[in-house]
Amino acid sequence: MSVRVGIPRALLFYEYYPLWISFFQNLGAEVIVSQKTNKEILDMGVKNTVDEACIPVKIFHGHVVDLKDRVDYLFIPRIKSIFKNEYICPKFSGLPEMIKHSISELPKVIDTEINFFKSRKRLNNTIYEIGKYISNDHKSIMSAYGKACLEYKRHRKNIEDGEAVSIDGVKILNQINDSKLQGKKVMVMGHPYNVYDTYLNIDILDKIKSNEAIVSTPEMIGDKCTIEYSKKFNGNLSWTFARKLVGTALYLIDTKSVDGIIYISTFGCGVDSVVADLVEKLIRRHTNIPFALITLDEHSGEAGINTRIEAFMDMIKWRDILEDNISAHG
Ligand code: SF4
Repeated sequence: MSVRVGIPRALLFYEYYPLWISFFQNLGAEVIVSQKTNKEILDMGVKNTVDEACIPVKIFHGHVVDLKDRVDYLFIPRIKSIFKNEYICPKFSGLPEMIKHSISELPKVIDTEINFFKSRKRLNNTIYEIGKYISNDHKSIMSAYGKACLEYKRHRKNIEDGEAVSIDGVKILNQINDSKLQGKKVMVMGHPYNVYDTYLNIDILDKIKSNEAIVSTPEMIGDKCTIEYSKKFNGNLSWTFARKLVGTALYLIDTKSVDGIIYISTFGCGVDSVVADLVEKLIRRHTNIPFALITLDEHSGEAGINTRIEAFMDMIKWRDILEDNISAHG
């Protein structure tokens, strides 16, 4: 029987799942992903996490509870840095310890450190350390990783190239630069787990689409582009999420490619208390693109979100008819 590796469907899963799943499967493991977030998972997460944690971390705990009795290993890497000279939110590096201290009777945890702050020289060692849990053959591990990388790159390229793809079941189609399309274009920004976890965000993407709008997300712009744009920012962006989202904002300011921007944040997020504010200031200072910040928590109600999305979409549509008739000075 093959080894079963459990991957919680939360946090950076939404960014890297094609890579991780493919890597373990190429090594012959059976990969089990937790169910999609639902009320039970959220409740389990809330029950098993310290109160101060942000909701995505609470949800992560719920996914671990969902998986723990069904797998031989849980994949919870200790992520410190995924890009050179950039750190990720500190919660990611403390995650394996948080889980081990909060949830009992866990299977073995693959908690290898991922730290590319100084360079990617240690990449091969890191991959070998992870792969060693499944196989002792160095060559097979590196070959499994090579194939997984190709899979991941193909997935990311498809998103940028405008192929119809899904990110964990959420259908997306990059039409951000298609000027012939009818319909308002809305960029939904935020950390990937806020944008693509449809239970957490109460299906915001679908709600916007049902208002005959075309939805974009930062992944469609791509890392290369957001890195280039982020260099125009006059300040220190040493957090990966900050670089990506500020780069996206500067791209939108330059290209004016959307009619509205919705930023999804979550209650208790230290990074967003700075980044969401920074993005909003940049957008308001340099463009007149309408901007809305939606902050979610475990008590967010669907009716309230619906009302905000509808009001935002109405406002964007009315601008076409009314804007020139209203004096900016009252
Ligand atoms: S970036 Fe914010 S939402 Fe994400 S894990 Fe850190 S504190 Fe939580």
